[in-house]
Amino acid sequence: MSTYRVQNPATGEVLEAFDTAGDADIADAIERADDVYREWRMRSVHDRAGAIQRIADLVRERSAELARMISLEMGKSTSEAVEEVEFAASIFEYYAVHGPSLITDYEIPSSIPGKARIEQRPIGVLLGVMPWNFPYYQSARFAAPNLLLGNTILLKHAEICARSSLTVQEIIEQAGVPCGGYQNVFASHEQVSTIIADPRVRGVSLTGSERAGAVIGQQAGKHLKKCVLELGGIDPMVVLDADDVADVAQQAWEFRTYNGGQVCNSNKRIIVMNDIYDEFVAQLKKRAEGLTPGDQLSLGDGEYVPLSSRSAAETVHAQVQKALAEGATLVAGGELAEGSAAYYSPAVLTDVPVGSHSYREEIFGPVATIYRVSSDAEALQLANDCHLGLGGSVFSTDESRAARIAAELEVGMTHVNTIAAESAELPFGGVKASGFGREMGPIGIGEFANQRLYFVA
Ligand code: NAP
Repeated sequence: MSTYRVQNPATGEVLEAFDTAGDADIADAIERADDVYREWRMRSVHDRAGAIQRIADLVRERSAELARMISLEMGKSTSEAVEEVEFAASIFEYYAVHGPSLITDYEIPSSIPGKARIEQRPIGVLLGVMPWNFPYYQSARFAAPNLLLGNTILLKHAEICARSSLTVQEIIEQAGVPCGGYQNVFASHEQVSTIIADPRVRGVSLTGSERAGAVIGQQAGKHLKKCVLELGGIDPMVVLDADDVADVAQQAWEFRTYNGGQVCNSNKRIIVMNDIYDEFVAQLKKRAEGLTPGDQLSLGDGEYVPLSSRSAAETVHAQVQKALAEGATLVAGGELAEGSAAYYSPAVLTDVPVGSHSYREEIFGPVATIYRVSSDAEALQLANDCHLGLGGSVFSTDESRAARIAAELEVGMTHVNTIAAESAELPFGGVKASGFGREMGPIGIGEFANQRLYFVA
């Protein structure tokens, strides 16, 4: 039975279905990836960079078509889909332009007689396992640096974005990466473990849930494979003070509802100082009220998008209901559509009891959860009281006050007076159970590189 199904979440209509790969298909894909690796790695880095620049160009040329594809697959609005396409193109371009200088060999001083050099070389076939929330961006940040380096890629995307994942492969091949250099595989979870176990596969990168991270990390460990894990986040946004509470509340709302709230580094815990708390909550309430479901392909003012699937919307609804049962207050929104559509109205939640189940859980949907604190120390304590550590932000009119809190956040990315800063040259990743390793920027290209020592006596 087909399990890779493209389904419009606004209606529940199945648009396309694909068969899961057979075991022989997986074996062939690994063999091809390994064969191509031996050729691809021997090309000059400038040749590989040329192909990667052409990927960026083709992605931009096909922007409208690519954007529509992911809007239909997972429900994001057309304007956000266009932004994502542009971001993916900028990542390919960043590595095409800057990648060669990031991986040049360099000498290091040696205290024993001889010359020491560090060479940055590929390691072989890699597996990427990616989620549906940013179908192009997630594959770009894994594929671009690794193709530039000379690795080859097998990409298992989420089941619901099958059409876009096939199209990414088509574009990469059209740009001049040899067939087999980047292969989309409609693999089952069992086949993912087969791929990880294969000795020709040298590393695996997963972006996804903690649950998947634990499984993939265990399999990578068992087979001694390098592993990068980009997992969930319940990122704190700490608001210490504000000249313009409405402006900071607007930023909080826009970021928390971006992509239907399905963003790993979304500001999922908004921690607000007592003296501006009531006004802050009122501002968010105003924004959440009176919204109506809209068509993601032509979203109007005051409308919200569907979540990625009916089951995603039901999960978010169940989590909010659980929070209410534990003592939280639903200030606005929080309605699940009837039928098979995946609409869940953006919500504002307060009074989640510290230490409760809901306090510890990531809600992957448009729910702004606000906590009240009465001192900087309490804000910091709450911000760090989390098993996840992806990103975090601190807002204040006094930059040094904000910086003192930001310096103590147990996260992989800290921000002052902005919730997030995302660009191809800025590394992305977390600490604690949010995973390990970094993607993008100069650090991202080192994750699956053999930083080989060359020593001449
Ligand atoms: P998910 O269920 O973990 O799925 C992510 C990918 O992993 C999909 O391709 C999925 O395949 C695959 N997968 C899941 N379990 C697997 C297993 N046992 N063996 C092999 N493959 C497996 O994640 P999601 O719910 O779609 O995505 C949301 C989560 O991802 C959130 O926690 C979010 O915070 C996190 N995320 C993190 C980042 C980051 O950069 N840190 C970015 C985006 C999202 P199927 O579709 O076939 O199940």
